[in-house]
Amino acid sequence: MKSITFNQQKTSAIGIGTWHIGEGDANKTESEIKALQYGLDNGINLIDTAEMYGEGLSETLIGNAIKDYDRSKFQLISKFYPYHATEKLIEKSLKASLKRLQTDYLDLYLLHWRGQTPLAETVNGLEKMVKAGLIKNWGVSNFDLNDLKELDSISHGSNCRINEDLYNISSRSIEYSILPWQKEHQMSFVGYSPFGSDGGQYLKIKPVIKEMAQQKHITVHQLLLAWVLRNHDVLSIPKTSSVEHMKSNLFAVDVEFSQSELDLLDESYPKPNENSQLEII
Ligand code: NDP
Repeated sequence: MKSITFNQQKTSAIGIGTWHIGEGDANKTESEIKALQYGLDNGINLIDTAEMYGEGLSETLIGNAIKDYDRSKFQLISKFYPYHATEKLIEKSLKASLKRLQTDYLDLYLLHWRGQTPLAETVNGLEKMVKAGLIKNWGVSNFDLNDLKELDSISHGSNCRINEDLYNISSRSIEYSILPWQKEHQMSFVGYSPFGSDGGQYLKIKPVIKEMAQQKHITVHQLLLAWVLRNHDVLSIPKTSSVEHMKSNLFAVDVEFSQSELDLLDESYPKPNENSQLEII
């Protein structure tokens, strides 16, 4: 499995997204657990979840799936609601997440998106959780450049390890300033929804994608995922509830593009040439 340096450690090129898992019937749950375990058994060493996902159902399913795995072999990310971003509520949310996940620490704990609580209070709360040994590090999600700069300016704000934003071939705004800023500040980037989320509603598939996928003898989804990974500077976290799709996503990690293929895709999905508002799902 190809790897990247992420959160200052060697990490598989893709992680496992888990939004909307654990919410269905027993058959679906079984398939979701098998897919997750297949990913871990075949080189993926990061899982992304949140207290929001199914109001804890995603974390509960993950807890059941990973309970017999060596916890030191993979990173676990969870996120708290912005209205739980006070010192007191961060601790309460975190302890509930750890219980559902059947683990005693998270590798990364993220503010899911910005809310009303001053960032300084949230950072204090997160730093306390690091000191208590309940999280190894912390980060943020859905932050734009101004948010990142503000965070960086407050006490201990530069301890932020990662930012997780939307990134796929039709949502490229982070390429203009967020990704370069994060690289400059050694802050890792996670790109979410590589396929445009469930049902692909946040991604417009243009003919060039279908034609190129056919020429390369890969699926549209493999092309979309490989494209996100093309520069080896983004960790992508596709979600799937089937082993078949997990296999397909693992295969995509090794797909490469020629410069002319990338140029052709740029014609239909142009690179951003100015700062635009960060898109959020
Ligand atoms: P994705 O872009 O990962 O798309 C998921 C959809 O793609 C599902 O319908 C899945 O179906 C399908 N799919 C997956 N693999 C394949 C395949 N190989 N072939 C065909 N279809 C496939 O959507 P998400 O929005 O879930 O994003 C990924 C993860 O990012 C989330 O699960 C979550 O962990 C994170 N996220 C974070 C956000 C944030 O605010 N920080 C916001 C949104 C997402 P199936 O299950 O049937 O395989």
